This record gives sequence, structure tokens and C-alpha cells, in this order.
Amino acid sequence: MKGLVIFGSTGSIGTSALSLLTEFKENFKILGLSGRSNLKKLKIQAETYQVPYLVVENKASADWLKANLSYKAEILIGDEGLKELAECSDAEIFLIAISGIKALIPVYYALKKGKRVALANKEAIISAGSFLRETAKAFGGEIIPVDSEHSALFQLLRCEERRFVKTLILTASGGPFLNWDIKDFIKITPELALKHPTWKMGAKITIDSATLMNKGFEVLEAIELFSFPPSCIKVIIHPQSIVHSFIEMSDGSLLAHLSQPDMKIPIAYALSYPERWEIPFSKINLAELKELTFREVDFKRFPCLSLAFDVAERGFPYPLILEAADEEVVSAFLEKKISFPQIPCLLEKTLNEFKFTFGQARVLEDYLNLHKEVLAFTKEIIKREGLCS
Ligand code: NDP
Ligand code: MG
Repeated sequence: MKGLVIFGSTGSIGTSALSLLTEFKENFKILGLSGRSNLKKLKIQAETYQVPYLVVENKASADWLKANLSYKAEILIGDEGLKELAECSDAEIFLIAISGIKALIPVYYALKKGKRVALANKEAIISAGSFLRETAKAFGGEIIPVDSEHSALFQLLRCEERRFVKTLILTASGGPFLNWDIKDFIKITPELALKHPTWKMGAKITIDSATLMNKGFEVLEAIELFSFPPSCIKVIIHPQSIVHSFIEMSDGSLLAHLSQPDMKIPIAYALSYPERWEIPFSKINLAELKELTFREVDFKRFPCLSLAFDVAERGFPYPLILEAADEEVVSAFLEKKISFPQIPCLLEKTLNEFKFTFGQARVLEDYLNLHKEVLAFTKEIIKREGLCS
């Protein structure tokens, strides 16, 4: 039985992981969970598994949990709490399902302890990729990707010698507006954008999937995880979300990874690797698949993807700036302060105008501080550019 900590257990990935683990109770002991606003859910999860350590955002949340929990648990608070759980837990595996840059804290400290990080979060690796890779290398930690495309690539790359791999090809469903007339993008509301055709996910990543910013982030993620240059990464539209990635070999062969579009499958892989579990609901019946289609991305329709390739070429800290700016811009869209077509424009403006003053980030706080600066700067840009009518 292995010890497991889930950071962000109350979110979409965290909930999928816990529901998967009901099938594999004998494989894991859950030693820690974290949540932020959804305290009732955290309480139920904690009581179900009698989890000894919990992290919440502030003292008020900790007090509520202490007063309402039916057993005695150690309750840790805020950034210090995230650090302490990652640093001090005896767990072997840390599933990082927190959204946003805060995930950088547990990722860093778990890697520094030489642990396995099952990484769903994208923001940390995009913003501080080389820092995390160096930490893993220095302390013997490992990152196993959970994002479905990267789990697919990880599995495909294990089968082949790297020198024969020419291109990594990530698939994108294209989101709900793939076939809309671009002129109608102005009519896109948060409610419409929150309906993803194939995946059920948290709000931020669902909006990013509608703009294809999510795919852009996945390009940046692939560059950091697998150390391929941007010119060796491609994206192809595949609305059925059955093929998660391809690798193109030097002889022109394409190797593909196919699975149901269910995050429990890559979560299970990251937790069980190098073994595999039997997952009954995961089978694909090839004869029942009506069609698998592929088409080129229309970059005019999805300028966010172009921005990602641009920042990949420019290198650090531009990926961090894009990622942080997107956090602010997407929340402005969700709050109906800006329109859908304004999203890429505001991102581009932030990338062009944000001035960073340091030479190079060296410690964890440098990345977190820079991220904060970009958030504040983007807020100003949003204010200055005017709110949509
Ligand atoms: P959700 O928004 O559903 O969940 C986020 C989780 O993180 C919740 O537990 C939330 O707590 C917690 N959280 C959010 N902000 C903070 C913070 N500042 N400090 C501490 N905890 C925080 O997101 P998803 O599960 O959809 O995504 C999680 C990560 O995985 C993201 O980085 C996303 O890009 C990535 N990912 C998600 C996929 C998916 O299918 N959902 C697929 C591939 C990658 P609470 O809910 O209690 O407020
Ligand atoms: Mg993905």
C-alpha cells in the first residue's frame, strides 16, 4: 500500500482521482488532502478516508473544519500548509490537482524530497519548467504527467528511442466554437463557453479550451516535460478526443495513443506507473467508433495558440507572463467584464507591455512574485482597455 497526498482534492481532477480510488482502495492510503473554498466537500472526503492531514486557505476555514470534522485531523493553513504537507508527508506520491500557480509550492517541495509528482496542474510547469526539472534532477524526484495529451506522449516516448522521434503532435477537440462563424464570437457568453463538447473540467480550463489557450499551454507543457524545441511540436484538431497524441518518427510512421476521454485513465496511469491497473470502464470498442477525424488548426480563429508558439520561441519568462495574464483575463471574461474576442487581444497587450526587471529567477519566491506582478499589470491593462459593453 502506497501513501498518497492529493492537492486540490475538491476540484474536478481531485474528485475524479478519489472516485477512481474507490476501485483501488487496497493500493493506497490517503495521507493528505487540500481544498480552498469547498470546505463541505473536503470534510466529506476527509471523513470517508480518515485523512490525517488537511490543508485549507486560511484560519477561518481551519476553524470551520475543526468544528465540523467528526474525527481529529491536523489542519494546516495557506502557503505554509501546502509546503509543510509536501515536505513532511511520508507519502510516496503527490497528485497535484490545484489550479493556478499556487501548485508550484507543493510541486517544488515534493520534488525536493525526491518524491513522485503526478502532475495535472499546467501552470507550475509552464511558469517554472527548468527550475522544476533541475530540482527533480538534483533530488531524485520524478514528474509523471496527468494531462491526457502528455500522459499519452509520456507513454509513446517510453516505447521509442528519442533520436528517431521527429515531432510530437497534440490533438485538440477544438472546443465548442470550432465551427462557429468568427463574426459571431462576439456573442459568446461565459455560459456558452463553459459547455465543453467532450471533457468535464474546472471553469478556467474549460474557457481555455474554448479559446485553444489550453492547447497553447499544453504545447508549452510538452516543451518543458519532454525537452523538445517548439519547432518539433504540432497541434491537430480532432473533435472526438479519442486520440490524445501522436509521435511522428523519422521514417514517417505515426504512433498514436487512444483512450476514452476520461481523466481517470491518465490519473490511474500516473499513480500506477510503471504498472497498469485493470480499469473496466475504460475499454474502447473500435467497431463502435463512428469516425476519427483530423484537420489543421485555423490560427486566425484561435490566436491564443499562436501566442503560445510565440512565447515558446521567446523563452522564459514569456510563458509565465502569458499564463499569468490568462488567469486574470479569463476571470474578467467569466465576470462578464470583457468579451470573448478581447481575450487574445488583452493577452497580447500584456505580453508586449509588461516590463520585467530581474535578470533571472532563481528561487521559488521569484516565480511567485513575478506571477503576482503580471496579475496586477494585466488588471491595469483590462481597466485601461475599457470594459465591454
Ligand atoms: P478545478 O477548478 O476543478 O479545481 C481546482 C482545485 O484547486 C480545487 O480543489 C480548488 O479548491 C483548489 N484551488 C484552487 N485555487 C487554489 C489556491 N489558490 N490555493 C489552494 N487550492 C486552490 O480545476 P481542475 O480540476 O479542472 O484542474 C486542476 C488542474 O489540472 C489545472 O491546472 C488544470 O489546468 C489541470 N488539468 C485539468 C484537467 C481536467 O480535466 N479538469 C485536464 C488536464 C489538466 P476549491 O474547489 O475547494 O476551491
Ligand atoms: Mg489536456
